[in-house]
Amino acid sequence: MSLESAPILNVARLVKRFGGFYALDGLSFHVTPGEILGLVGPNGSGKTTAINVISGLYAPDGGEVVFDGAPIGGVASHRLVHRGINRTFQIPKPFLSLTVRQNIEVALAYGRAAVAPPSMAELLGEYRLVEVADRPATGLNSAQQKMLDLVRALATRPRLLLLDELAAGLNPAELDWIAERIKALAATGIAIIVVEHLMGFIEHVTDRVIVLNAGKEIFEGKLAAAVQEPQVIEVFLGGEHAA
Ligand code: ADP
Ligand code: MG
Repeated sequence: MSLESAPILNVARLVKRFGGFYALDGLSFHVTPGEILGLVGPNGSGKTTAINVISGLYAPDGGEVVFDGAPIGGVASHRLVHRGINRTFQIPKPFLSLTVRQNIEVALAYGRAAVAPPSMAELLGEYRLVEVADRPATGLNSAQQKMLDLVRALATRPRLLLLDELAAGLNPAELDWIAERIKALAATGIAIIVVEHLMGFIEHVTDRVIVLNAGKEIFEGKLAAAVQEPQVIEVFLGGEHAA
């Protein structure tokens, strides 16, 4: 089991610029298999950009992204999916005219070849999509779209799963349910990065958090300890009151 504690993802001094603006400004962290890492921080602090760079949507402008021992900075998303990295989107983008089942079929066909795919019936059942399986994705409510986005990612058999505000907009019962699903996924050995604003949810789900501000890490550790840190409190509550 000692191998389990070796990081599957190492991010070191990561930089992503848009023009002269540093969305990521020297970000470093790691995640191990089976671990759930929370990425928290105010709007615009770089959380989605971090996911976009790690999942291959953007090439980094500096620093390193090492996945399973190999540098992957700048490798395209579709290649990373085959290697075991997939993500959900803050705003899901299913193929709207395809049915839920067809959307999942595409992802199943596309995934990591080395691993047997999960069954359609299992995915539909576990993520409460059975009743809407044969409807076009355009007819789904926002919670169902989020679940389809998650299932689409899972269908590709990721070893690293990046969840960008998956829980936003879910009701309390749905939050409890999805929290348990995420923990169950981690228990199978998937490394999971969770971006979420709901601190109760983060506290419940994560093993550890990174707090981001302006593209930099300002805290790493347990959420309970993060909320004791003056710098973290200032970033979340300071705003116009900050000196
Ligand atoms: P978060 O997810 O933490 O709210 P983002 O990573 O989406 O923050 O954004 C970080 C900063 O980078 C913001 O100031 C945002 O406007 C900027 N940004 C993100 N993506 C782009 C882009 N494609 N082009 C220009 N600026 C961007
Ligand atoms: Mg975001």
